[in-house]
Amino acid sequence: MDTGFVQTPAVQDLLDRAAGVGSAGGNPRLKVILRDLIEQIMTLIVRHDISENEVWDAVNFLQSGAGEFGLLMPGSGIEHFLDLYMDAKDVEAGKTGGTPRTIEGPLYVAGAPLVDNDANLTTDPDETSTLYMSGRITGPDGEPVPGAILHVWHANSKGFYSHFDPTHEQTPFNNRRRIRVGDDGRYAFHSKMPNGYSVPPGGASDTLMKALGRHGNRPAHVHFFIEAPGYRVLTTQINFGDDPFAADDFAFGTREGLLPVPNRQGDSATIVFDFHLQRAEDAEEEHFSHRARLAVAA
Ligand code: FE
Repeated sequence: MDTGFVQTPAVQDLLDRAAGVGSAGGNPRLKVILRDLIEQIMTLIVRHDISENEVWDAVNFLQSGAGEFGLLMPGSGIEHFLDLYMDAKDVEAGKTGGTPRTIEGPLYVAGAPLVDNDANLTTDPDETSTLYMSGRITGPDGEPVPGAILHVWHANSKGFYSHFDPTHEQTPFNNRRRIRVGDDGRYAFHSKMPNGYSVPPGGASDTLMKALGRHGNRPAHVHFFIEAPGYRVLTTQINFGDDPFAADDFAFGTREGLLPVPNRQGDSATIVFDFHLQRAEDAEEEHFSHRARLAVAA
């Protein structure tokens, strides 16, 4: 059948009523967006002749996989699309420069210990080499950014994050800190080298990846937020340029400019990486996105 079916008066009337178009109450913006969304879904059903059973298969998948929405967002490319869209809008608004943003992912935990530069992020034993990372945090004119807080979080050598470790071997906030950056903009920390990881076997993301003939692996990486008064909060991460999955990240988090190759010497690895922030145009730009995050008292 032709997708023109969705344009018939009966379906259009159904859409109006479902989105509350005729009612005085409610949120006007939500009504418009939701009407569009439902219409798109109806159009997809007709275009691909999706059966009743297939619709319920999809609903069952989303219902049972709700706990993995944080992984389905990057795995489906939607989280990276948001970055591409925000980049494009920045270009349109003349806001260029700065370290590229990239996906946050679902594993940040608020409340990590606040420490000074040269901190050790790793509190648990981990038989792997030590990562030494340092660099400068500067603004658009090359000025050192004073009062910056660098949030760092990464996996251990088994690819597991504290607070989300299925082996329960890690103490809270292992490989997680907030670093008080010096007023000269220099930061430095060391920790045990993370490894890449894959989506949990048998979970919703794994099921989806297999159904698409894709893998669910990420290269080894380190996540960052940088916040500083007067500057736009930066959400980014570096992926290790020498990781086998560096160019094939299931989450699409790898970006040009965020792929340093660690300088590996014996049992240490060094990365020197500078961050460049943009100035905030309003208070909202200084704050994190509305994403729900686990918060734990340190
Ligand atoms: Fe990660």
